[in-house]
Amino acid sequence: MKFWMILFLILPYILYPFEWPVKQNKTKSLIISSTFGESRLDHFHNGLDIPGENRKVYPVAKGKVVWQTKGNRRYGEIPFGGGTTMILYHPKEKMLSGYMHLKPSLDNWENNRFVNPNVAMGRSGKSGHSGGAHLHFFLFSLLEKAMLNPLLALPEDFYRNESKPKIKEYAILLPDRVSILNPEKPFSLSGNYPLLARVVDSATATSKERWGIYFLKVETDTGSSLQSLLFQKILYRNFRWQTENLQVFEQVYAGPYYILAYDLLKHPNLKITAGGYKGPSLTEGLHLQVTPLKTQASP
Ligand SMILES: [Zn+2]
Repeated sequence: MKFWMILFLILPYILYPFEWPVKQNKTKSLIISSTFGESRLDHFHNGLDIPGENRKVYPVAKGKVVWQTKGNRRYGEIPFGGGTTMILYHPKEKMLSGYMHLKPSLDNWENNRFVNPNVAMGRSGKSGHSGGAHLHFFLFSLLEKAMLNPLLALPEDFYRNESKPKIKEYAILLPDRVSILNPEKPFSLSGNYPLLARVVDSATATSKERWGIYFLKVETDTGSSLQSLLFQKILYRNFRWQTENLQVFEQVYAGPYYILAYDLLKHPNLKITAGGYKGPSLTEGLHLQVTPLKTQASP
């Protein structure tokens, strides 16, 4: 066999060392109900959600069971809200993979047991803190001390994103509340408050998936950067989860909203670019007609 043929055969395994934790007919895309980095109101969503009840769940690579727990955990225990959870160690990649909200039937899975991707280790369910039955899957790099976006490590067979993200709503973060903003109308502001947007993506125009986005860039009309997000990794630094440019949750989100700029009054003219993972991206210019509200001069 020629060298390039060998390379061609092994390349996908170098690029994507892991297999999907659920199996799927190759011709059908998999539904992903939530993506990496989304806001969970007070923390980053650190993995991928795959909906469905009773789906067989497989190890993504050869590994060893290092942690497992059944049922709901109380606050302060790890992982909070994950329900029946399995965590595997993959020595070759120096990574952990985690599987949450499984059906509580892990009787045969004691710690230190070796697993491989051909043998299912559980079924998806809704144990723990979970709206509906789904698998929450995460990858943690021990070398980087970071949660990784699983889409970067999994083969692309099942993934599709043909739809542009949409900006559903603009808002202002006032000291006491979030105020929805109509960008067409002139308005006044008494202080320099952050500008917010609700941005969602989906696989296709008609699909039920409503994802967060993979990247967001906000620039002024002169080209200086006001916000720059890329959800490849979420790092664990100084006891907090942070983006790659070291922003903590509160610098990225206000509840479900992305923070576009910290000081709206200073930057009424913005260019926003947002995209999903490998999908078409959105570019939108924003020209706010905002005037500072003069407060009465104190005597
Ligand atoms: Zn999840």
